Amino acid sequence: MSLQLYIERLERFSRQCGATVIRNSLESGVLGRVEGRRIVLRSGLSLELELLTLAHELTHLLAHCNASPRLNRTVCEYEAEAVEKWVGAALDVSPHAEAGLDVASLTDDLLAGSVIRVRWAAATLLRVARGGAVEYQRLQA
Ligand SMILES: [Zn+2]
Repeated sequence: MSLQLYIERLERFSRQCGATVIRNSLESGVLGRVEGRRIVLRSGLSLELELLTLAHELTHLLAHCNASPRLNRTVCEYEAEAVEKWVGAALDVSPHAEAGLDVASLTDDLLAGSVIRVRWAAATLLRVARGGAVEYQRLQA
């Protein structure tokens, strides 16, 4: 399956969720971020990094941006990284495509609430990337 197609599907889903995806220059070390109702990806990324970064930022958009009460920033980053690795492993995207990466272990060190958010976000993004229809809804947890 082409990485470009996964990216297009996730971008369409992002628009469906109310956030357009743009490419722009970002400060060094930053690959992407959510700015209000936009996802900004660093321009010039490889397709692999673009897909993984988009999955990471979509996790923030879906699971964190409207969380109430607000979630701890570090927790949010752990969760987005877990989803990014999960999606990368499931879609066979380097560098998370290494044989033997057990996606079930990605949530081992997370709190129960995080496990629910990570599993839900990863399942949602994988369904979208694989071409399934997903009704946008916020996580009710
Ligand atoms: Zn992040």
